[in-house]
Amino acid sequence: MDVARINLSHANYSFCEEIVKKINELNYELGTHIAVMLDTKGPDIRVGKFSGGQAYLKTGDKIRIYMNKVVGDKTKFSVSYSNLINDVKYDSIIKMDCGLIELKVLDKGKDYLMCEVLSGGIIKDGRSLNVPNIRFNRPFLSKKDIEDIKFASKIGTDFLALSYVSTAENILEVNDLLIELENNHMSIIAKIENEIGIEEIDEIINMCEGIMIARGDLGVEIPMERIPGVQKKIIKKCLMAGKISIVATELMASMEHQIRPTRAEVSDVANAVLDGVDAVMLSGETTIGKYPVETLALMEKIITSAELDIDYEGLIDYAVQTEKQDITGILAYNVAESANRLKCKAIITPTISGYTARKISRFRPSCHVIAASPNPATVKSLALCFGVTPILVDELKSFDKIIDKAKDITKELIHTEANDKIIVTGGYPFKGVKHTNFMKIEEL
Ligand code: PEP
Repeated sequence: MDVARINLSHANYSFCEEIVKKINELNYELGTHIAVMLDTKGPDIRVGKFSGGQAYLKTGDKIRIYMNKVVGDKTKFSVSYSNLINDVKYDSIIKMDCGLIELKVLDKGKDYLMCEVLSGGIIKDGRSLNVPNIRFNRPFLSKKDIEDIKFASKIGTDFLALSYVSTAENILEVNDLLIELENNHMSIIAKIENEIGIEEIDEIINMCEGIMIARGDLGVEIPMERIPGVQKKIIKKCLMAGKISIVATELMASMEHQIRPTRAEVSDVANAVLDGVDAVMLSGETTIGKYPVETLALMEKIITSAELDIDYEGLIDYAVQTEKQDITGILAYNVAESANRLKCKAIITPTISGYTARKISRFRPSCHVIAASPNPATVKSLALCFGVTPILVDELKSFDKIIDKAKDITKELIHTEANDKIIVTGGYPFKGVKHTNFMKIEEL
């Protein structure tokens, strides 16, 4: 694994602190650089409490949704968002418990919505409620989210995954908070999980470090059959923009209960890799699943195998279309292209901020990219980038030393043979140079 995600919809602060402490200890012990991602609860809506903890809603029945607290039963229940009555429209479809139960809004009372149960079932206390295609008229950040982001900043989180991002302004709001907190390390990953987020995707990609295609909630908000197409489009857009993409949820879901994945799951993971995604994410499989380690090991196997079949030439041609002006970008493109043609074993890039490594990664070279940085925060920030192995090194001073060090690093991390080629690239002198300005091809 490269990153551990902790979901603040479920975890409390002491649990997070415990996990982060454990990761730091293991990183130290194993010499790894596993980064931490905290995932916000976001502006979700939940149903209130039911008498006896649950109620059976019968298809065809009428039911009232109250804006203030009532004890729910088969004829009524309340919700956590009191402005719902103003935001929804007549005929809006309300989905509950991950879309298992569906209601249609028939009418609006003074403090309730009158609905028809289109698809019934048992609803339990606190289950999720979604209204697809509705722009909610409320601040993106709840009090809890603000507190959670402050907490994430305090414990040195590397990535902040924002639930239910719908517009670029949502990210600006969080950026302002991070400026206030003087945090310039935490990278923002926008979770796309509704139709509005899909509509605004170009502006959202522009404003954040990366996108998570959060297929769980997305599959409730839009028809499930649209997910594969949406996923492919978002991965392509991220490739074009040089931003990170993550495919999340149910990739190996059957392994929550059994030791082998289905063929369809293997294909799902491999197809994301073949499309050029930066990361694939496990959730239920490694939280409540019976085989977390086995799932991870198998996923790694699928990824490694799929990487052999990636159309690297196609991906580089695709990404270069949007790389025209930037010196580092053009050099990174030439480094990736040369590495592919010369069948290099690795690209080594000494980096202070991680910029060069990110630029090279966006061209999806077919060999390893080893990003060597003396800055621990930079090393963690590269954890999600396609093909990048970030490592922590002492400060690098002379050019000759870096070449020798690069050769040593490659031999240490990768199986090599005599005369294998590597490319060393970076900005020289190491301090004060504004962009990448050299590329050296070396034989081992
Ligand atoms: C998702 O909905 O797919 C997702 C990743 O978010 P969460 O785990 O918070 O449901």
